[in-house]
Amino acid sequence: MAKLFIPGPIDVSKETFCAMSQPMIGHRGSEFEALYASTQPMLKELGGTVRPFFLSTSSAWGVMEASLKNLCAKKVLTLCCGAFSDKWFSVAKSMGLQADKVQVEWGEAISPEAVRAKLAEGGFDLVTLIHNETSTGVMNDVAGIAKVVKSFPGVLLVVDAVSSFSAVPLEMDKLGIDVLLAGVQKALALPPGLTIFACSQAALERAEGMPNRGYYFDFIEFAKNAEKNNTPSTPAISLIFGLQHIMGVIAAEGAAKRYARHAANNALIHEWGKRHGFKNFAPEGNQSVSLTCFHTPAGFDQAAFIKTLKSRHGFVINGGYGKIKGLTFRISNMGNETAATMKELIDAMDDVLG
Ligand SMILES: *Cc1c(COP(=O)(O)O)cnc(C)c1O
Repeated sequence: MAKLFIPGPIDVSKETFCAMSQPMIGHRGSEFEALYASTQPMLKELGGTVRPFFLSTSSAWGVMEASLKNLCAKKVLTLCCGAFSDKWFSVAKSMGLQADKVQVEWGEAISPEAVRAKLAEGGFDLVTLIHNETSTGVMNDVAGIAKVVKSFPGVLLVVDAVSSFSAVPLEMDKLGIDVLLAGVQKALALPPGLTIFACSQAALERAEGMPNRGYYFDFIEFAKNAEKNNTPSTPAISLIFGLQHIMGVIAAEGAAKRYARHAANNALIHEWGKRHGFKNFAPEGNQSVSLTCFHTPAGFDQAAFIKTLKSRHGFVINGGYGKIKGLTFRISNMGNETAATMKELIDAMDDVLG
């Protein structure tokens, strides 16, 4: 079996799988409520919030789409800088919503000033931001952008922290983020199928007044159920056992050490790239610390590199996403990786490069 160093899903530890294979419990009972409650303190610490985290049995897109449905009464501004953020705009359009965007070239970051200029045109009540654009390895200035959004009263901010949650500190309450969401198959190192998200009071008030919210992704249903440490419908209980396990692992390591470990592991990949003349796709100052996206140099047979790395060493990296597939390649350092496991990957990549 090959080990994944792609930017999600990532390698899941045996201990996590073991935790997930506990006997099933009913979700309308005290056992489940205790399980749910046990995930909360660490999730809140990682998100920088006192708000409860809701557990959605869906991939991240479920909650990304639901944020539009629950919160966009007038017009949404989507901040587009790569495959995931660009798609959020198309999803808004496909829902028939009024939508506009700030668009930058893939590989660039969103400038807070561009957000200010667009919001100043007026008419918006929602902004979507991808903190860490996984397709390009760009980490956006969430603090700078949040500050701008907060200066426009009545505009709510949704932040996708799918590939940054638990890899870098997040400060939902301090920055005034209204929805903070993350799928668990990225830095949380769980199998896919669950998304965690928290909503500000303002987000819930907005949702309450929105017509046609449906049921499965209704934020108000999530909020009502969370008061009893529960979910609106039957959740992926095995994944929540896994989440409980990972929260314990993070608590034991300590969040600060976890962030430092991600930064150090990421630096190892940057050094490796430098040694071989691979250039970072993301600009200095906006580079992700949970993954690295490199330009594919002219004449470099990237496909053969990736294929041999897998067949000879059993490690899988990614050959680029969306319209920069082949032009870039990406290596994840998210989750449980250590200096030692990163070195195994680096030695293997060196071997393949010869
Ligand atoms: C992976 C990813 C998504 C999509 O997640 P799904 O689990 O496929 O719904 C969204 N945003 C970012 C930043 C991602 O990295």
